[in-house]
Amino acid sequence: MVVHTRFAPSPTGRLHLGHAWSALQAHDFARANGGAFTLRIEDIDGTRSRPEHVEAILRDLEWLGLGWDGEVTFQSRRLALYEAALDDLRARGLLYPCFCTRADIAASLTAPHGPEGPLYPGTCRGLDAPDLSKPHCWRLDVAKALASLGDPELLWHDAFAGQVRADPASAGDVVLARKDAPASYHLAVTVDDAAQGVTHVVRGVDLFAATHVHRLLQALLGLPTPEYRHHPLLLGPDGTRLAKRHGAPSLEAMRLAGEDGRALAERLRNGQLPVGIAAAQA
Ligand code: GLU
Repeated sequence: MVVHTRFAPSPTGRLHLGHAWSALQAHDFARANGGAFTLRIEDIDGTRSRPEHVEAILRDLEWLGLGWDGEVTFQSRRLALYEAALDDLRARGLLYPCFCTRADIAASLTAPHGPEGPLYPGTCRGLDAPDLSKPHCWRLDVAKALASLGDPELLWHDAFAGQVRADPASAGDVVLARKDAPASYHLAVTVDDAAQGVTHVVRGVDLFAATHVHRLLQALLGLPTPEYRHHPLLLGPDGTRLAKRHGAPSLEAMRLAGEDGRALAERLRNGQLPVGIAAAQA
């Protein structure tokens, strides 16, 4: 079996133990199967991405002993690919411009709720003469997109959850091109995983819901569906996903304090976690 996994951090902050945990799983799965492990920097968010975070990510992974294969890829240099996918979907009438602000959506009494918060209530769907000189994003008309495919059953396989039937409508009409960025996470990640030949998407279970959308995009764009491994997360002392707010030191801080990164990676592999941190059950 050919295996290609990737670690795809967004350089919007320093990495912490939760990132090390995820990178380790993607790396080790590839290595255990004689496969490739690559690094993709998800830096399409020009306002929040910082070169100094990129630099720290590279040093942190080297420090942990998680070497990657080939060149590091940067989403900010792959915008033409996302643009082509957007043009294709737009030409098929599956996208519509949306002028709503976050506040408009939050204030809408009709906004249904999905697992990730309020779903877009469809205010701008079917506008007669949208004024594209005003700031707008582009949303996928999910119902129309599914209908254009003949309302197929879309499945994916997850190493932890087994066979999953995608329910793209659960995320509502997602944004595929942002007001402030030429593509959204959903579009860029789906296009890149396919273009780079990623066979196994190893990432935290916090991104499980996103895969419903990614599976639909794969069907629309004629892309293969990789295997998924949505792994359990590291939890902080309050039992929620380990995050910056828990005050855990960044990997960089541990590295600069002279801690042995390879030994840390080994402890993570053996489930020896720092005090207060636990791994969620699979
Ligand atoms: N860039 C995303 C993040 O840092 C992860 C993307 C993915 O693994 O699909 O949360």
